[in-house]
Amino acid sequence: MGKSYDYDVVVIGGGPGGYAAAIRASQLGARAACVEKEHLGGVCTNVGCIPTKVLAHAARFMREARRAGELGVRLGGVELDYPLLVECREAVTKKLRGGIEFLLGSNQVEVIRGAAAFEDAHTIAVDGGGGSERVSVIAEKVMIATGSMPMELPVAPFDEDAIISSRGALGLRELPGSLIIVGGGYIGCEFASIFSAFGVDLTIVELKDRLLPEMDADCSREVTRELKKAGAKILTGTTLEGIEKQDGGVVASLSGGKLVQAEKALICVGRRPMWEGLDIEGIGIKTGGRGEIVVNGHMQTSVPHIYAIGDVAGGILLAHVASHEGLAAAAHATGNISAEVSYRVVPACAFTFPQIGVVGMTEEQAREAVGEVTVKKFPMRALGMAHVSDMTEGFVKLVCDGNSGEVLGVQIASAEASNLIAEAALAMQLEMTAEELAETIHAHPTMPESMREAAEGILGMPIDWMG
Ligand code: FAD
Repeated sequence: MGKSYDYDVVVIGGGPGGYAAAIRASQLGARAACVEKEHLGGVCTNVGCIPTKVLAHAARFMREARRAGELGVRLGGVELDYPLLVECREAVTKKLRGGIEFLLGSNQVEVIRGAAAFEDAHTIAVDGGGGSERVSVIAEKVMIATGSMPMELPVAPFDEDAIISSRGALGLRELPGSLIIVGGGYIGCEFASIFSAFGVDLTIVELKDRLLPEMDADCSREVTRELKKAGAKILTGTTLEGIEKQDGGVVASLSGGKLVQAEKALICVGRRPMWEGLDIEGIGIKTGGRGEIVVNGHMQTSVPHIYAIGDVAGGILLAHVASHEGLAAAAHATGNISAEVSYRVVPACAFTFPQIGVVGMTEEQAREAVGEVTVKKFPMRALGMAHVSDMTEGFVKLVCDGNSGEVLGVQIASAEASNLIAEAALAMQLEMTAEELAETIHAHPTMPESMREAAEGILGMPIDWMG
């Protein structure tokens, strides 16, 4: 007789990877459970995507309010009540968390509260803490969706008081007067854009020669210019060599002998996969050089009935990628053996000023991949709607195959880039050409017309700009 299981699928971790996987597994007929040790929604809902975007929304509002007079709208002084903003942020997070709990329940996914660990390859022990009884559940398939942690620098260990991680930054009840941000990736730049709009005296330290080093260089230039305009000091090609706590603040020693003083230092130098405490070594799950759980295209680990999805699998550390991997793993685990993840079209955004949205290949990558490419950069200042809403900064850059005209990549630096990039992703998913984009009627006056304008530029026949 076969083994009897409590569940067909148990997902460990209720972040965007885990809860999506558990819901989909249940929709596909599995008896599913989701184990969560802290808050449903994971980093994304509680200390990542959502709370930073509440702050970014307030920052954008403040920037626009300061300029409202130019439109004839008199608002009086613009002031920030940070403790109230913190309350708003917590309310949004709480509401979304409740929504996830509701969706899990409505989809017949059992939520088990507590920290999970493997007893053996099919048995998960869950410790609810606080003296509650430890329970064991037996699962036919298991999905590890335990996420990631902020990476610590040996020269600047977190105390979450003077030296803080992104989690600590989101836990601040008061704004610091001054801040050193170490790391100019998208998380560091989002915090920099937010805090500079709030009037915090900022210094950004980045090891590479520019901010947003993983993104298109033109996009990086736009964000750098805006941050400088807002008064931030940007030190690229610079290493943090040490940090000392002094007089209620910090003094950072940088390469080249420079010293910078601030109230706090926020370290955003990357994230590392988190599976400590799960006892994965004991059951033979392999990990890679960056601590990631090694998976195949179906998201199966080296133990085939155990999957790993999201940040813990160390691929592209974004919430929508985690969810997408979760859906593929759920389909595979419930019998669709051809289900796998494609990373050909993965949009990524930075909620900076201006926003950045990218998908597919950069010009250089495309040249390397296909040889001949056509590239056009449409300036937002040539767009009617950009003038209407006073959002003329930035551009849409379209990278197409020089022969077929297929869209290979899009980089946008502009207000609304995080929304505009969706059309680019869809165009790439459908393997559309510049001609097909240009032939698509776009409503006027809107920001997405910029995509059509860029496509007309690729075809060499732009109407509203010189191409
Ligand atoms: P997580 O969201 O980390 O969830 C893992 C869950 O597992 C957690 O709830 C944890 O408590 C639980 N868990 C861990 N161990 C156990 C255990 N042993 N037992 C039970 N439960 C366990 N991504 C975007 O796409 N867009 C953004 O704008 C964006 N902004 C971000 C801003 C910041 C400041 C940060 C830090 C991240 C941001 N991200 C963003 C990244 C995004 O948050 C992550 O990629 C995403 O949350 C990963 O999802 P996940 O499901 O893999 O893991």
